[in-house]
Amino acid sequence: MNETASLEAFDLLLIGGGHAQLAVLKDWIDNGLPVERAALIDPASHARYSGTVPGIISGQHDVAHGLVDLARLCERAGIAFVRDRAVAIDPDAREVTLGEGERVSFRIASIDTGGVGQAARVLGTSDKLLDVRPIAAFIERWHEIAAQVNGKPLNVAVIGGGAGGAELAFAIRNAKGMMPAPQVALIAGSAGLLPDLGSWVRGLAERELERQGIPLIEEDAAFENGALTVSGQTLEPVDLVIAAVGSGAPQWPGAGGLATDKQGFIAVDQYQRSTSHPHILASGDVAQRMDRRIPHAGVHAVHTGPILAGNLRALAEGREPAASYTPRPASLYLLSTGRGEAIASYGWLGAQGAWAARWKEAIDKRWLDQYG
Ligand SMILES: Cc1cc2nc3c(=O)[nH]c(=O)nc-3n(C[C@H](O)[C@H](O)[C@H](O)COP(=O)(O)OP(=O)(O)OC[C@H]3O[C@@H](n4cnc5c(N)ncnc54)[C@H](O)[C@@H]3O)c2cc1C
Repeated sequence: MNETASLEAFDLLLIGGGHAQLAVLKDWIDNGLPVERAALIDPASHARYSGTVPGIISGQHDVAHGLVDLARLCERAGIAFVRDRAVAIDPDAREVTLGEGERVSFRIASIDTGGVGQAARVLGTSDKLLDVRPIAAFIERWHEIAAQVNGKPLNVAVIGGGAGGAELAFAIRNAKGMMPAPQVALIAGSAGLLPDLGSWVRGLAERELERQGIPLIEEDAAFENGALTVSGQTLEPVDLVIAAVGSGAPQWPGAGGLATDKQGFIAVDQYQRSTSHPHILASGDVAQRMDRRIPHAGVHAVHTGPILAGNLRALAEGREPAASYTPRPASLYLLSTGRGEAIASYGWLGAQGAWAARWKEAIDKRWLDQYG
């Protein structure tokens, strides 16, 4: 525990410094704290902006790039920073239990703790398996592995056909300082490559994979008798299997009695309020809107942030929350190819070039500068 934090009751408790919750801290810094006592609980000293992960894996950026100092933000907002994790919640008693066994009580709580890794559940277990979640552990392990490469190319299978999997395949194939360059295969699964994006973008990504010598397999993979297989065929030899198979739900919110969807994500209404306990809000990958389907992605967590900030302020001041996040008809995705270019996706439109990579850098920088 951080010695600055008190274990007394808090009027407002932020659990997890995820992408949405950072906007709440920013609101409190800019517009003042709406309550007397508030705190943020997070086991990490820094939040990681997920858009910068492929650039760190490829070596384009150093590991400190894209980190937001949570303790400093809390200090500026005038709230306590509790460096610990929530392991249980009693939503009726309004209490959270921390990893060290201490309990913290609250009047209003807001949860943004992200998703948990689900690679072993989806693929089975293996020593070769490296889940991209939690991201900090993934980055650390990748750097250890990369430092050990010596003379022989690393054979890597990236599992997951979403934007994260595709970007990681490009990033690893082009990882700086790894000689010889890793051999990479992208196993997109039976849903195929970039299933949520348009066919134009898919075509660009397929051509780029081919250009870079990254085979694309659109079938489901699993470990069978210790070997990575698709349709009963082994893909071995494989040195490393990196799984970007999406967020799973942490178990503690549902176990405590918060309403969840079938997968265990906290069920929230259009105002991000728990459908069972309206004094608790949840956002980002840990939550699932019940009124409409919003995919789990950093871009949506980021855009939910200002809405969440407004709703928390309303609740703290005894007003009803009235703001709701509506995704734009199309979201902009910029997928780095690892070679100085990016593929831009907006609705059915797609385009590729160095300009798109510069655009991505500018967007990331603008977002990070808010919290610098
Ligand atoms: C490699 C990779 C690349 C990605 N690239 C993109 C991208 O380019 N664009 C995009 O839109 N999405 C991307 N994503 C998806 C994106 O990372 C997530 O959707 C996004 O991070 C979700 O944000 P969040 O606010 O839910 O939580 P997170 O950003 O995951 O933050 C959760 C925070 O909660 C803390 N925490 C966790 N558990 C607890 C606990 N029990 N108690 C207290 N605190 C806790 C963590 O320490 C962390 O600070 C990527 C994902 C990966 C893995």
